[in-house]
Amino acid sequence: MIIFRIILGLISKMIAPRFSGCGRCGMRWCHTKEKTIYYSTFSGHFALCEHCYNNITIEEKIKYYTESKHDFGTKKNMISAILKDCDIEETQYYREQKLKRILK
Ligand SMILES: [Zn+2]
Repeated sequence: MIIFRIILGLISKMIAPRFSGCGRCGMRWCHTKEKTIYYSTFSGHFALCEHCYNNITIEEKIKYYTESKHDFGTKKNMISAILKDCDIEETQYYREQKLKRILK
């Protein structure tokens, strides 16, 4: 399915080269709906389209939305906002991540 989406993204990019687009499939924002994550009252970030956002794991979502954010506070707020958006309890998530690292 992602292959089909990437092909659409390439076509979208040829039609609208001046627009930016989804970080995963490449669809231009004029052809798809962005998924905005608000990490503070007035600040939001859209790294992915809604289609891609809804079809990847929580770890992938965090990777895409935090890769352009460099300061720790913003990254932490972004992760919190993504977890909240996905209805995942933050303490439980970090506990599971710690366990995954230990078991590696
Ligand atoms: Zn996409």
